[in-house]
Amino acid sequence: MSHSPVIVIGSGSAGLTAALYTARANLAPKVFEGREPGGQLTWTTAVENFPGFPDGVMGPELMENMRKQAQKFGADCRFETVTEVDLSKRPFRVTTSTDPRDPEAEIAHYTADALIVATGASARTLGLDKEMHYMGYGLGTCATCDGALYRGKKVGVVGGGDTAVEEATFLTRFASQVTLIHRRDTLRASKVMQKRIFANPKVDYIWDAEVSEYLGVDEPYKALTGVKVLSTKDGSTRDVPFDGVFLAIGHSPNTAVFKGKLEMTPEGYLLTRTALAWKGVVAPEGLIDRLPNYGSATSVEGVFAAGDVVDTHYRQAITAAGSGCAAAIDCEKWLEHLKG
Ligand code: NAP
Repeated sequence: MSHSPVIVIGSGSAGLTAALYTARANLAPKVFEGREPGGQLTWTTAVENFPGFPDGVMGPELMENMRKQAQKFGADCRFETVTEVDLSKRPFRVTTSTDPRDPEAEIAHYTADALIVATGASARTLGLDKEMHYMGYGLGTCATCDGALYRGKKVGVVGGGDTAVEEATFLTRFASQVTLIHRRDTLRASKVMQKRIFANPKVDYIWDAEVSEYLGVDEPYKALTGVKVLSTKDGSTRDVPFDGVFLAIGHSPNTAVFKGKLEMTPEGYLLTRTALAWKGVVAPEGLIDRLPNYGSATSVEGVFAAGDVVDTHYRQAITAAGSGCAAAIDCEKWLEHLKG
């Protein structure tokens, strides 16, 4: 069984930054990239809010560069997905598969003194035909990332929670018209956010409606051109043209393998010291007194967490990268402390 001081689970901006820092600290990290190598940014096109790129950078290119930078200092990045962890004793045990959906896939076992969990969160999508085809080509899941591309354009936002309302409100800075499409006739979003959006003259609404189909073209270039909406009241449908559509129907943290092993919120976000400081985070009583004294420490000593798997609050590539750096430094300090 192969052993390394540190295993990083996940390869978005948090995981690859943690890999870079632990590699530079001579901790020879193994990085299990998971089912979505490079994470959520590989789904976007131009990233214009990552500092250091005045002309923007393509999401996949940014992630490829982060991987190369981590590898340059010795990170061992592997296209394997963690299917099981044993955190009951140290060294921790990690089982991976080259493809968890394939029973014939190669299985491997590893041990590590410390783990950095950066498995991210996946934006929920509608699961309709052509969803992945148009993702990044008019269809998106992050208005903060891509909103500025829609200056003077007409955009739709699907959802009725705080994220949808926040993203729709944000988009009014750029778009000429923002249409919120919600499956009911009342918003789930907090009253304050509702008040704000209802006062915004750039926003209109399609109530009691679900998106049932993505409309688009492949020539002269691939682009979403609108959606078909289905009335939840009378089953009627109509086509609504949009230059862009954002899905804002929630995120799911990728924490299935840690259930029952690490403390998490009721929604499945990992709890760390930093997360406990955020307003509205629901945590077991007294957890703060039990957590090791590092910002990225989880409920199991030696396991650190970073990025969207923790973050219910900021959810930006740059904050994920920053928290990956913090987790790597915490991890390094903890390993040093262990040696005495
Ligand atoms: P959420 O509260 O779970 O809301 C998801 C929304 O998407 C709901 O309106 C839901 O409709 C709709 N939806 C879910 N599945 C759908 C589907 N298949 N088709 C169509 N619509 C669908 O998620 P969220 O808005 O991402 O918020 C998550 C958490 O983060 C919440 O606790 C929220 O308060 C918090 N948050 C806070 C802020 C802030 O305070 N600034 C900002 C963002 C998020 P229904 O209403 O019909 O269920």
